[in-house]
Amino acid sequence: MNSVNLSERLQVVADYVEEGARLADIGSDHAYLPCYLAQNKHIDFAVAGEIVEGPYLNAVNEVSKLHLEEIVAVRLGDGLRVLKEEDHITTITIAGVGGPLIKRILEEGKQLKKRSGQETLILQPNVNERTVRQYLMKEEYEIVAETIIEENDKIYEIIKAKTSETRQEYSEKDLLFGPFLSKEKALVFIKKWSSEAQKTNYILEQMKKADQADSVKIGELETQLDLIKEMIK
Ligand code: SAM
Repeated sequence: MNSVNLSERLQVVADYVEEGARLADIGSDHAYLPCYLAQNKHIDFAVAGEIVEGPYLNAVNEVSKLHLEEIVAVRLGDGLRVLKEEDHITTITIAGVGGPLIKRILEEGKQLKKRSGQETLILQPNVNERTVRQYLMKEEYEIVAETIIEENDKIYEIIKAKTSETRQEYSEKDLLFGPFLSKEKALVFIKKWSSEAQKTNYILEQMKKADQADSVKIGELETQLDLIKEMIK
């Protein structure tokens, strides 16, 4: 992968970014995503935010190699703290990290007034997509698109959300499986949830064998397993 040929996963994220966006790509690593979009003249401006020095330096090198310094600003720091008011960010992308971290970054950003709540969000959690969807609902966002793909034996979900006039009430099924993905039921979606059903089944069997079985947790997992079985039948 590089900033000319993105991975399939990052390409989906890129395709969700609207023309003329002012982008904050948080956890940018090599800054491939903002550099790709800047080279294709698809965005007006981007901040590539990175918390770790190595990936930050990779991003600095990539931007300088491509002479994109006037469009892509690389900044070292935690989450949305790297943003400035004058950046006028319209879109935030966070890809390749866990759902709970995405939620923390967005929540801290809100507390610190680093985001207005009007930005388009494009999120690719590596795990725990449910946490992300639940947070989006709480923040009065509407999920407007979702994609599920398999790349290098890993399955990824990409979620695009926009601020909504009316609060969306997502069901447990929507939160767990995704409102679009659960309707589409692509082959890779069935593959993911068949594997999750097996894992959940195994965990349940182990929990039931324990000397002091946690009946609350067992009940929750049984409900979840029923939902999964219903979804993939
Ligand atoms: N976004 C790229 C992608 O999807 O290919 C890179 C993903 S990489 C697996 C995750 C990056 O997020 C790492 O470079 C890591 O240092 C960075 N990161 C983790 N927590 C962060 C935070 N709180 N703020 C900014 N960057 C963070």
